[in-house]
Amino acid sequence: KHASKIRLDDVKDTQTRDKDKSDRATSEQVLDQRTRMILYQMINRGVVSEVHGAISTGKEANVYGAVAFADDFSKVYRAVKVYKTAILSFKDRERYITGEHRFKAGADKGNNRKMVKLWAEKEFRNLRRIHSAGIACPEPLQLKLHVLVMGFLGDRRGWAYPRLRDANIPADEAEQTWSALYIQLLGIMRRLYQVCKLVHADLSEYNILYHNKQLYIIDVSQSVEHDHPRSLEFLRMDIKNTGDFFRKQGVDTLADRIVFDFIIT
Ligand code: ATP
Ligand code: MN
Repeated sequence: KHASKIRLDDVKDTQTRDKDKSDRATSEQVLDQRTRMILYQMINRGVVSEVHGAISTGKEANVYGAVAFADDFSKVYRAVKVYKTAILSFKDRERYITGEHRFKAGADKGNNRKMVKLWAEKEFRNLRRIHSAGIACPEPLQLKLHVLVMGFLGDRRGWAYPRLRDANIPADEAEQTWSALYIQLLGIMRRLYQVCKLVHADLSEYNILYHNKQLYIIDVSQSVEHDHPRSLEFLRMDIKNTGDFFRKQGVDTLADRIVFDFIIT
C-alpha cells in the first residue's frame, strides 16, 4: 500500500548544516546490518517510507530525517534516532542508570547491545510520558531495539527547527521574547517534575528546539524519575545550565534556589 523506497545507500543530504560530518558518518557505516534490517521492517509496515540523510550525527546517536505517508497519501516527516551500539562512553551513562529502578531488570553492563536497547527504551517511555503531559516534544511513534521513530519537529518543507542556542530572534523583540521563553521553560520544568515525575538531567540550549515562540524538549534518554537518588542534583544542574543561558541573553532570571523551590513544590 505504501511506497517503499529506501535511500540508505545513496543517503541524500537534505538538511544537515554540517555536510562533512554527515558524509563521514555515512561512510563510517553507521547503519550496520542489524539497523538496516530494522529500517526495512519499518518500511514494510509503513512506519516510514524513506530514510534520508542525517539531521545530526553525535557521539551516542544519529538522528535521520524520514518520510512517511499518511492515510490520504500526504507526506509527513519523521525523525529516526539510531543509538550507537559501539559506544565508548558508557561511563557517562552510569550515573543515570545506577539508582534508576526502571533499569534494574535487564541491565547487563557487560552487554553493550542490551544496554543501548534499554537506553532507547528509556527515551521512548520518557517521551511518551512527556508527550501525554502536554509538554511540547517529539511524539514517540515506534521503537525497535536501538531504533526510535518519532514525530519530526520542523516545517512542512522538512527543515528541522533550530536548537534554542541557534534561535534567530529579531533584535527588536529579543528582550520580550527571551523573558517569555524563560518563563515558559520554568513552567515546562515544573510540569516535567510534578506531572511526569521526571528530571530531564541534560537540559540546556542544545536539547531544546525553538520555533515560533515555542520551546520543544528533546533528548530525554537520560531523564530520571524524581525518586532517583541523584535526581535533585541533576535538577540543580538543569536549573543552572538553563539559567546561565538565559542570563547570557540578558534575562533578569530568578535565583537558582528560588527556581528549585518553584519546581519541586
Ligand atoms: P548526541 O549526544 O550523540 O549528539 P543526542 O543524544 O544529543 O546525540 P538528540 O539531542 O536527541 O541526540 O538529537 C540530536 C539533534 O537532532 C538535535 O539537536 C536536533 O537538532 C535533532 N533532532 C532530534 N530529534 C528531532 C526531532 N524529533 N525532530 C527534528 N530534529 C530532531
Ligand atoms: Mn542532544
